[in-house]
Amino acid sequence: MSKSGLYGTDYSINPYTGCSHGCVYCYAPYILRERREWGKFVDVKINAPEVLIKEMRTKKKKDILMSSVTDPYQSLEKKYKITKQLLERLKNTKFVVSILTKSTLVLRDLNLLKKMKCEVGLTITTLDEKAAKIFEPGAPSPNERLKILSYLKISGLKTYIFFGPLLPFISDVDLEKTIDRFSMVRPDYILIDKLNIKGRNHWNKIKKVLEMYYPDLVEKWEYILFYENDYYEKLKQRITGIFQKYDIKYEFCL
Ligand code: SF4
Repeated sequence: MSKSGLYGTDYSINPYTGCSHGCVYCYAPYILRERREWGKFVDVKINAPEVLIKEMRTKKKKDILMSSVTDPYQSLEKKYKITKQLLERLKNTKFVVSILTKSTLVLRDLNLLKKMKCEVGLTITTLDEKAAKIFEPGAPSPNERLKILSYLKISGLKTYIFFGPLLPFISDVDLEKTIDRFSMVRPDYILIDKLNIKGRNHWNKIKKVLEMYYPDLVEKWEYILFYENDYYEKLKQRITGIFQKYDIKYEFCL
């Protein structure tokens, strides 16, 4: 359990190092100072369940995010079940778990999650399937994620959508339609965040992909991300305006 500075979270648990979803915008490798190619390796923390038992005894606060720099339900989880073992140990304790994933595998643990103090969030950056394939090459499609969310909600779990990172001129295209689709799966709330750049190497990686698939956006993104401007402030106002029509709680971390 690592202390977390993330919104609404006391600790984060990352059962794996690396992530097979390989999202282009992911800042995890820059926080972890990871030199291996992100998306091409995953280390399994096989003794995490034992370590957790020891750590739970000393931690005073209670809100845990699973996960902040990996997806707890990536494909290796099918084999190793580290996330599942961690959840089993967290069940019937004071800890409240917020799962954050892009994976359909979360459904495997539905019965366990139903018995826990927890919520499950699915990250959605855009509903544009083509863009999602470019920016989140290893993850299930946004449509599948929405279906999962709907199923979790119907099953009685508290759910949320993490709408982010908001990719300029991609996430905000058809914004009305996107929020309308979100409303149909009736999440308990929606958390919204902007694109955060962690250094030059992070930007260079994103820029390469933009040059390949969205060359006309390179300069626009550079301006939004590195120069003083009100792009995200205006987007925030636009999103706030759209939400007036809906009875859904939403919060910005922008
Ligand atoms: S799912 Fe999350 S941790 Fe994994 S690559 Fe994408 S942004 Fe990074």
